[in-house]
Amino acid sequence: MTDPRFAGIGMTSARTRDRLVQRLREQGIRSAEVLERIRTVPRHIFVDEALASRAYEDTALPIGFGQTISQPYIVARMSEALLAGGPLHNVLEVGTGCGYQTAVLAGLVGRINSIERIEPLLARAKARLKELGVRHVRFRHGDGIEGWKSNAPYDGILVAAAPLAVPEALLAQLADNGRLIMPVGGEGGQELMRYTRREDRIEKMPLGSVSFVPLQPGVA
Ligand code: SAH
Repeated sequence: MTDPRFAGIGMTSARTRDRLVQRLREQGIRSAEVLERIRTVPRHIFVDEALASRAYEDTALPIGFGQTISQPYIVARMSEALLAGGPLHNVLEVGTGCGYQTAVLAGLVGRINSIERIEPLLARAKARLKELGVRHVRFRHGDGIEGWKSNAPYDGILVAAAPLAVPEALLAQLADNGRLIMPVGGEGGQELMRYTRREDRIEKMPLGSVSFVPLQPGVA
């Protein structure tokens, strides 16, 4: 991470990032390792240069193609929920988007398998993560509703877009004690959910209301 752009200046400086971390702590994020990733991963690299000065505000921002980079609080909350319950060796991420969530997770888990349905977004995310020296990520242009069977089972699955109901394929690809963190619901309201596999039973736990872009079928 020697590129001077990664360190940031002014509104992208270390002090600005520290303020964001402090805010997330106040909002209830407890995991020191997650907060450290939020502090060190340069979020401004993942958005358009015109938006870089807003990269450390706790807000979602447009990344093109009608999609958004997730709000830092949500990235932290989902990462923390995924990590609770033991180490993660093999993780599936659905909805790579700009790659920011992937970069945050990369320092915290073993291998990541990341699927995105919009090809130009995936290409950009790949390039950025390579620049940042993020390794141990396998990418796929595809429909994450089907999961990624050949690399399953997963001890963690994280989905960054909301379906009306949890996709069966994702539950089927969870390892024993594996957890799936994802928003579920439509325009009337979405709930962030945690599904944990206990042998052939699935434990369900609501984690609060959220607002995500819809999980869409097919590729673009
Ligand atoms: N964590 C990402 C979030 C991006 S928004 C970030 O911080 O940038 C959610 C992403 O999910 C979008 O890029 C959207 O194209 C993608 N998506 C929606 N439905 C999908 C599907 N069925 N399979 C894979 N990706 C999907």
